[in-house]
Amino acid sequence: MTAASAISARPAEAIAIELLEAVCGHLLAATTELNALDRAIGDGDHGDNLARAARRLREVSNELAILPLPELIARAGKEIVMSVGGASGPLYGTLLLEIGKALPADPRTSDWATAFVNGVEATARRGRSAEGDKTMIDVLAPAARALGGRVVSRTEALHAMREAAQAAFEASRPLRAKRGRAAFVGERTIGADDPGAASSLLCLSTIVEYLTEIPE
Ligand code: ADP
Ligand code: MG
Repeated sequence: MTAASAISARPAEAIAIELLEAVCGHLLAATTELNALDRAIGDGDHGDNLARAARRLREVSNELAILPLPELIARAGKEIVMSVGGASGPLYGTLLLEIGKALPADPRTSDWATAFVNGVEATARRGRSAEGDKTMIDVLAPAARALGGRVVSRTEALHAMREAAQAAFEASRPLRAKRGRAAFVGERTIGADDPGAASSLLCLSTIVEYLTEIPE
């Protein structure tokens, strides 16, 4: 048995825990960069907020690991809502909570796509934001749609999601922010990267990188 097939034989919950850990690691490594993006058009704490979320998820990792997959994802969201201040904590927390609530016990890629679309809609409702407002929603919404697009394999779906996220991130750069603290900055947000859009792209890229290593 190769190392890769040994990975694929593991339960989805174990993979989810490792994946969360990979995302936490990348977020912690990006703290300074995300703070800098937020300093330009916000209050400079986006990296710190997500670092707090990552540390909290690590703290409760053993409790998450014993839950069935949908509950595991939902609980991760609740932990983020409860531990992170700022706009992004409740928004990312809502995203995970609603994804978890919408997932069946043994999800296929199409189930993940449906749950992701639902989660993004709930997050946008909570933020009273829409695509084009230059927030994390600008990246998350097209990414969720792309994951559920017409594809024949999980790997293709994941690559389509990453490409959509990257393109959406770049497309949001010339926009003027209409929600969150950046909305008060006005003209100066044009041409700047939104910190939440950047962290969303980072999380999605990490997920794709990690999952494409695991055979379908
Ligand atoms: P805060 O703005 O409270 O300091 P963060 O700095 O952690 O919180 O997060 C800022 C990011 O959160 C923004 O870059 C944006 O992507 C996202 N955001 C802020 N407000 C909203 C909103 N109403 N809807 C969607 N996303 C939002
Ligand atoms: Mg901030």
